[in-house]
Amino acid sequence: MSHQGRDGAAGPSQPCLEGRVNPLREPALEAWGVYIHIPFCPVRCTYCDFPTVLVRDEEVTTAYVDAVIREWSGERIPHRPPLAVYLGGGTPSLLGPDAVDRLLGAIRQRTGSVGAEVTLEANPGTVDQDDLNGFRQAGITRLSIGVQALQDRLLREMNRGHGVDAVLETLAAAKRVGFPTVSMDAIYGWPGQTWRQWQETVEELIRLEPDHVSLYQLQVEPGTQLYRKIRRHELAPPNFDEAADMADWASRRLTQAGLARYEISSFARPGRHGRMNQLYWTLNPYVGLGMAAHAFDGRRRWWNARSLHGYLNRVRAGRDPVAGSEELNRPALMREYCWLGLRQVSGLTRQRFGQRFGADALPVFHRVWEELRQDGLITWDAERIALTARGLDLANLVMGRLIGAPLDADGTGKRG
Ligand code: SF4
Repeated sequence: MSHQGRDGAAGPSQPCLEGRVNPLREPALEAWGVYIHIPFCPVRCTYCDFPTVLVRDEEVTTAYVDAVIREWSGERIPHRPPLAVYLGGGTPSLLGPDAVDRLLGAIRQRTGSVGAEVTLEANPGTVDQDDLNGFRQAGITRLSIGVQALQDRLLREMNRGHGVDAVLETLAAAKRVGFPTVSMDAIYGWPGQTWRQWQETVEELIRLEPDHVSLYQLQVEPGTQLYRKIRRHELAPPNFDEAADMADWASRRLTQAGLARYEISSFARPGRHGRMNQLYWTLNPYVGLGMAAHAFDGRRRWWNARSLHGYLNRVRAGRDPVAGSEELNRPALMREYCWLGLRQVSGLTRQRFGQRFGADALPVFHRVWEELRQDGLITWDAERIALTARGLDLANLVMGRLIGAPLDADGTGKRG
């Protein structure tokens, strides 16, 4: 495919956003979230460069949960309830219901509530019906299942450690338990993945009736087994044009099936969008707990020690596990707010930008907005600035331009 003009060149004459988008209710300015990183995995997927540890040893996982609870009791943690809690990884479902119950219990004890949405990432083959019942009783409201593909050959190439049968069993068990939201992830652009396989995966996802779907384009990260295999010509490099076509087709198909695209990679039935991600996209604060977890307080970002031993040793010794931090100045916060807001199909809200920064987003980055609009990548009206369909395809390009964008106004909305 060609990236140029595939959606009919949305340029300066792009119609008003009204009616084209369906904005979600944005989280309140003071809303915050909790991310807990659970780094344990039973296998190492060939494409993965996340901070993970191969372990199933209960002694280690118990020590880790103890450390996270200790970190949680630190002074940086607000005492009011979070909007959402997210247990990501890694493979958090390896922890088991008792450990998850302990983690959520610690949050409740301090804040009185775990909030409206509590997500657990679960990999097929790591949980059975009893585990899922236990997770639900512990307070998990949203189960995010890492499907990735629905062909055994692709799952083996990915070294996922499970086959298609395990996906179907996990999903059937999750349905019996009755989680309010079940989400599924899939990857497109895998080397050698055919159109037919991709269409089969998307059609099967639709048939399985999830409430939420996330589709990720494969990224080949240096240091991964996949990267080495491609370097050694054992696998073909991904075809980016074909991957973009796959995303486009899947987006249309999921929308037809009632799963509307609300973010670059995310689709949901009405009211089932992920609240934790929405906190990230509106630059709301979040606490990050555990090895390698990142946190943000609205101005400053910090991150924990990236090794398991480094993290455990620091927390056990009563020391701060933070390994680094950065302070975001006002222009950096503005750029980040704009870029994250644009990830949402409904775009960024100019009024909300104004509440946060005391300025209108349009004059602040006037030149870059104008260029992007002339290239058919964004559009705006009195309320919002949003990516066009073409902009959604070329989101990385838009981000690159925004990252380097100079401020065109003094931050109060006046041209500088
Ligand atoms: S299960 Fe997820 S975190 Fe673990 S190795 Fe695979 S991709 Fe990485």
